Amino acid sequence: MSLLRLERVHTFYGGVHALKGIDLEVCEGEIVTLIGSNGAGKSTTLKTISGQVKAKSGSILYEGRDITNTPPHITSLSGIAHVPEGRRIFPRLTVKENLEMGAFSVKDKKEIAERMERVFHYFPRLKERLQQKGGTMSGGEQQMLAIGRALMMKPRLLMLDEPSMGLAPIIVEQIFHIIRELNDEGMTILLVEQNAFQALQIAHRGYVIQTGEITMSGTGKELLGNEQVREAYLG
Ligand code: ATP
Repeated sequence: MSLLRLERVHTFYGGVHALKGIDLEVCEGEIVTLIGSNGAGKSTTLKTISGQVKAKSGSILYEGRDITNTPPHITSLSGIAHVPEGRRIFPRLTVKENLEMGAFSVKDKKEIAERMERVFHYFPRLKERLQQKGGTMSGGEQQMLAIGRALMMKPRLLMLDEPSMGLAPIIVEQIFHIIRELNDEGMTILLVEQNAFQALQIAHRGYVIQTGEITMSGTGKELLGNEQVREAYLG
């Protein structure tokens, strides 16, 4: 069943035509990855879905409803979590406070505590560092905190923008493992990555974006085996 569908989405930054008619679908229970080079429009795609930037035309359907140009605080309340590039956590707040911010719309303390326990199941490190200020955590820990904060919303669709960026290979390994684990437990994931090899390995399906256009799509396996993909993105 289709959870998210973009149809002919165009997005501009002033005179820059960043998305030129994007068609993309994410079905319930899938990991879908969007790969492409610097400046191809990956982040813009996620920002257009979450409502941070406006689509000029086209439509975005979520759970069958038209959510095109719905503001970010509303898309997040309807279950779309967007973990932006560069893991923007609150550096002066503690780990615990950062996580609580993720559940700002929840009043029930017991519910918040349960969600936090769930986050610790994936990221035990965060439990050990509850009182540490977010900004003093390592890069990998901050990424875990950013994902953990998104999970506090109990999203239906988790959108991750380059979660592996700037992290040591072993940490990247862990993050990808957790993405897979989340998906095994039913979470639908839209993953933007420059690390195409690892992304395609865990994704059910993938799309290649090039200067604002989808140029290829297929299963993770198909794209991994594709000659053009190999040359352009897999080194
Ligand atoms: P990267 O991996 O480098 O983040 P990306 O695929 O995520 O690349 P986007 O950030 O979506 O690419 O950028 C798509 C295009 O839109 C680029 O040409 C970029 O320069 C342009 N762009 C992005 N943000 C803005 C902005 N705020 N103002 C003007 N142009 C922008």
